[in-house]
Amino acid sequence: MQHFDIIIIGGGAAGFFTAINAAENNPGLKIAILERGKEVLTKLKISGGGRCNVTHAEFVPKELSLNYPRGEKELLGPFHGFMTGDTMEWFQKRGIELKIEEDGRIFPVSDDSQSIINCFLRETESRKIQVFKSHVVQNFQKKEGLWDIKTSKGDFSAEKIMLATGSNPKMWNLLKKLGHEIIEPVPSLFTFNIQDERIKDLPGIATEAEVKIKSKKINLESKGPLLITHWGMSGPGILKLSAWGARDLEKLNYQFEILVNWLPGFNLEEVLTALKDFKSSLAKQQVVKNAKFDLPKRLWKNLVLASKIEEGTTWADLNKHQLQNLSNQLARAVFKVNGKSTFKEEFVTAGGVNLKEVDFKTFESKLHKNLFLAGEVLNIDAITGGFNFQNAWTGGFLAAKAMSKD
Ligand SMILES: Cc1cc2nc3c(=O)[nH]c(=O)nc-3n(C[C@H](O)[C@H](O)[C@H](O)COP(=O)(O)OP(=O)(O)OC[C@H]3O[C@@H](n4cnc5c(N)ncnc54)[C@H](O)[C@@H]3O)c2cc1C
Repeated sequence: MQHFDIIIIGGGAAGFFTAINAAENNPGLKIAILERGKEVLTKLKISGGGRCNVTHAEFVPKELSLNYPRGEKELLGPFHGFMTGDTMEWFQKRGIELKIEEDGRIFPVSDDSQSIINCFLRETESRKIQVFKSHVVQNFQKKEGLWDIKTSKGDFSAEKIMLATGSNPKMWNLLKKLGHEIIEPVPSLFTFNIQDERIKDLPGIATEAEVKIKSKKINLESKGPLLITHWGMSGPGILKLSAWGARDLEKLNYQFEILVNWLPGFNLEEVLTALKDFKSSLAKQQVVKNAKFDLPKRLWKNLVLASKIEEGTTWADLNKHQLQNLSNQLARAVFKVNGKSTFKEEFVTAGGVNLKEVDFKTFESKLHKNLFLAGEVLNIDAITGGFNFQNAWTGGFLAAKAMSKD
């Protein structure tokens, strides 16, 4: 049996951040990380397409919290303790140059997640944090005031433990045995599968759009870049819907309809009025040939053809019905979603430990003293953009503060 002051279960983003900060706060502590894999930080390695989108350039706590479909309310307080600006400073102080991209995502200047991993490994080594790889934690329980941990390679004990095991069903089951409620996991951050003539030959085209779930029961809409892919639709506008609708869309078995407004800011009537104006001002021009409203040319063409307007038709030829059709295709196009696909840059699971059971000042379990939880093990997840790591850093930092106190 090996004994430590603090044991972190899970060598991922939240686990490393907790261990390093606890050691920095109190260098006298004996700290270990137990990781089931042969390597640590494997998810971080592939994150952000291998570049690791560490956080996001949103520096107002309230605004930042709005990016968390689950965790919005609970993270607001913690963000006042440690958030995006602190994350940047933390890494920069350790020699990692960061850059903010146009859309607000923050990456290491190296564009290589290995820089972050190297930083963590340097820190753990210099602070004498012991990292045990290939140690699968099989059970943990409190015995005579200490946490007793069984792994595939021997037993450990510790005063305080942190569960940073991400979305791992076995660990959630162990937490259930300890009385915690686990909100059933469902995927978040996915793209929509859509087979449709209007977008079939357009993969790679991106445009601003408003997207709404067509349902009386689900009131969800988003605005942002929409990317047409080989499978259907992706891009921030779609991913936001997938995150906010994670639970509702799972209930629909990912079979539902969406309404796409390709002209954000315009409503149906306004579009129809504009089309009527074109009918008189551009009378002799062919409708298909001249894309309007700055829409990508090929998308415009497909929407025109879908409105039962043949090639060669001029604006003057359009009848009332065709004008109506076109305005519908532009401002209220219905698409049938039939399943989902994984978004490769970043994907997360919605679900995990019920947030009511966690003290968000310290990230300690309200049910068990000296049991801390951070990262994806909690029922917290965000939209894409670096917010999921920010949750891991914030939780890790605040837990470390509490855990390193005597
Ligand atoms: C492909 C991909 C790309 C992503 N890109 C980004 C991005 O760019 N920006 C962003 O903000 N978020 C991104 N995310 C989300 C982000 O990676 C997670 O939110 C984050 O890693 C969660 O950190 P964590 O420490 O909670 O869990 P993890 O990083 O998953 O770490 C958990 C660790 O616990 C270990 N473990 C589990 N069970 C046991 C056990 N029984 N015993 C011992 N160890 C165990 C696991 O092996 C793992 O190493 C991405 C996710 C994926 C899948």
